[in-house]
Amino acid sequence: MLISQESRPVACKECSAPALRVARLVSSDGRLLGQTVFCAECRRRRREHEPAAGVAPTSPLP
Ligand SMILES: [Zn+2]
Repeated sequence: MLISQESRPVACKECSAPALRVARLVSSDGRLLGQTVFCAECRRRRREHEPAAGVAPTSPLP
C-alpha cells in the first residue's frame, strides 16, 4: 500500500488530530486499485490498546 505524498493531512473526525491521509492502493504491477483514507493517529492508538501477542500478563504481587 502506497500513501500519496501529495495529499495534505486532514483533521480526523474521531480523534480530531490532523492525521487523516489518503492512501492509494497500488498492485504489485503498478496499477491503481483504488484509494482509502486512514488516520495515522487512530491507527497508532489502536495498536497501543491491543496487547502484544505472545506476551504473558504480569502476575500481581502477593
Ligand atoms: Zn483519528
